[in-house]
Amino acid sequence: MKIQPFTGSFTQQEAISDAAIDAAVEVLRTGRLHRYNTHIDEVSHTAKLEREYADYQQSTYCLACASGGYAMSIALQAAGIKPGETVLTNSFTLAPVPGSIVNARGAPVFVEITNDLVLDLEDLQDKIKSTRARFLLLSHMRGHLVDMDRLMDIVKTNDLLLIEDCAHTMGAQWNNRKSGNFGLASCFSTQTYKHLNSGEGGLLTSDDSEFMARAIMLSGSYMLYDRHGAAPASKVFDDIRLDTPNCSGRMDNLRAAILRPQLAQLESNIERWNERYKAIEKRLAKNDAIRLPIRPPAEHYVGSSIQFFIENISATAARDFLIANKQLGVELKWFGDDDPVAFTSNHKSWRYINEQSLPKTDSALSGLFDMRIPLTFSLADCEHIADIIVACAHHR
Ligand SMILES: *Cc1c(COP(=O)(O)O)cnc(C)c1O
Repeated sequence: MKIQPFTGSFTQQEAISDAAIDAAVEVLRTGRLHRYNTHIDEVSHTAKLEREYADYQQSTYCLACASGGYAMSIALQAAGIKPGETVLTNSFTLAPVPGSIVNARGAPVFVEITNDLVLDLEDLQDKIKSTRARFLLLSHMRGHLVDMDRLMDIVKTNDLLLIEDCAHTMGAQWNNRKSGNFGLASCFSTQTYKHLNSGEGGLLTSDDSEFMARAIMLSGSYMLYDRHGAAPASKVFDDIRLDTPNCSGRMDNLRAAILRPQLAQLESNIERWNERYKAIEKRLAKNDAIRLPIRPPAEHYVGSSIQFFIENISATAARDFLIANKQLGVELKWFGDDDPVAFTSNHKSWRYINEQSLPKTDSALSGLFDMRIPLTFSLADCEHIADIIVACAHHR
């Protein structure tokens, strides 16, 4: 049987809706793009987005800022990181995560991951003991949630400050509790490939008023923090406002204007992602050469990308597998490559950090393939793509 190539684009997002375009054009017509450039009594789009995202997330406070990476970096600073202090984080993540730790003058120490792509809780406990770390920046990489009940026991027992990186879990839940509502603070990205798309952008949430007051000052609020949509009361800033540097990284009204209508669509988009994920997963699951990570019933994920393993694949065979898929129009990423490609890299290519031995991670990543699932793909596209992957896995 000759399989037809797939001709869709793995980087094609859905168009910005007319409602969002209209809102953006209106902002452009006023010329008031800066979040604090408002008339008396006018609430900016950025402040409204903060209110709406806090409501969606069910968090007390929300700060809109320049990017997800920036949100992580100021979260660490607002949580009181000291120069050179250890921050534990997942060994399997994307480059902005270690980057944000270094940006906050912290020292990343990587915790191993399991064969199901979540934090290895045994290794976490070992590393808490050996490093005496106070911080855990937990990256829910590619939307895989670790057992949050067990994790929170460890966090509480060891008095860890938990910051969640929810770049891939906006809208996800563990046992009906939203990802991002477990720790001191959580960071979300609205970069083009995430669950909301403003090109670039970030959201930081927390229930801690002093933490949030520091984060708002850090984001570059000057003395205009009372113009925020989901901020602590002004008196919380009294002791904080002169002691916290302004590290400009604000969101602007243009981006907030196009995010607000998208937020209203998020839940229905999550369903659309999951239909597509399941269509692909079902077909891959029938193939013996392919192993899918186990997703526990407590995890309500957002299937905006899919990961699978081909066990014991050599580096040469992995590259050939990528090429075979690519020739049929399917763009996979392989996390086992020593040489970083495009958005994909691993701890071995983050040479600004001390080299760390992570044998479990290396073994998991060596056979790990990853694929985006843009919402522009139809269910038939998803089945077609899965058939191509399976055919390529067969013919190795
Ligand atoms: C995209 C991403 C971020 C942060 O993204 P920005 O591009 O800085 O908004 C953080 N963590 C992960 C895992 C990501 O994929």
